[in-house]
Amino acid sequence: MTLNTHENIFYPPVGIVHITDTVGKLLEPHIAEKQGIHINTSAQPNSNPHLGTVTTLMTAFAIGEYLRSYFNLPVRLTFDQLENAPGEKQTADGIEYQKSLGDTMGDRGISLANEYMKSFRWVFDFLSQLTDIPYKICSYDDFQKKPAFRRNLLKILQNKEQFSSFLSPTDKVIRFRFPCPKCRWVDKSSKTTRILSFDEDHAVLSSRCFKHGEHQIILSEKSSDFIDTNTPLRDVAKGATLIEEGQHSNELMVMCDGGDWAGVWNMQVFCNGITRLGYPYESLPFRFFSPIITDWSGAKFSKSLYVKAHAYEYLPEGLINFEKFIEFYGKSGFLQLWEEVRSWPEEPKKLFRNYSIDYFQLMLQK
Ligand SMILES: [Zn+2]
Repeated sequence: MTLNTHENIFYPPVGIVHITDTVGKLLEPHIAEKQGIHINTSAQPNSNPHLGTVTTLMTAFAIGEYLRSYFNLPVRLTFDQLENAPGEKQTADGIEYQKSLGDTMGDRGISLANEYMKSFRWVFDFLSQLTDIPYKICSYDDFQKKPAFRRNLLKILQNKEQFSSFLSPTDKVIRFRFPCPKCRWVDKSSKTTRILSFDEDHAVLSSRCFKHGEHQIILSEKSSDFIDTNTPLRDVAKGATLIEEGQHSNELMVMCDGGDWAGVWNMQVFCNGITRLGYPYESLPFRFFSPIITDWSGAKFSKSLYVKAHAYEYLPEGLINFEKFIEFYGKSGFLQLWEEVRSWPEEPKKLFRNYSIDYFQLMLQK
């Protein structure tokens, strides 16, 4: 039996597929008087994108293209660049410190974030051209300046006991953190972060640098002091910010993230957090999750920095590193991948499903 034949690709019915025959129908109750659709996706530029990242970005554009035709509404896309993700790490005084990807210099004299964003931009330009969907990149630095984001962070800080129970169930510490103004090292776990004072409109926070001692910031809607957040805190405050932006622009906000954020995370962190901030459930952005690309064992195919060296040695390098992908499979391989991902939103059974790395390897070999 050969595995790479169409007869051997199965789509057993799963949950949502039982109740809808098109993806568009899921959004109909939310579209009402909306004048457009705004897709949002994000990633940490901590390496060149690998296949899993590329298929997530493609899924975002494919959903945009599909919804534009289904609702006959204009679609635009924003990519949230998470250059605040960790680049360099070190332990000092028993505390783990990190420097962000935006503050960590690479070999070529520019930050790691700027270095890796080059290949992300290539992917965006290519997909934007193919779909005619305009895109914009929003850095974390710009996102954290948004008044709605800061207002919601403040609200979480003011109710930190309640929020820490589900944003940080292990140690109950909400990661409000900010870099030392002199050397840019950040106390990763917020162990030295102190709330010096707060009222309804603002909070004064302090943190300690192992070299330069204590430093402070003011968190308020109007202050411009940079504030870093870890993933759960950002996810909740970001979701709330998108709700307000959608209300302002009268667009349906649609988030598209990797499938590993679906399920318990989405329920317990995202939906739970936003409704506790006071936003009604029906106002939440509609959230899609791209199919997970799995390795042979069913684990998420990860960036090589999260698994041991040579973990994916058995695969062609083109599937691991985006730069090598183009070298291996050419633009025609990239187009073949796009045509595959593009077909997913057309049929719920294809979108609400995962795919193995072997599936792509066989597909690209044809
Ligand atoms: Zn310092």
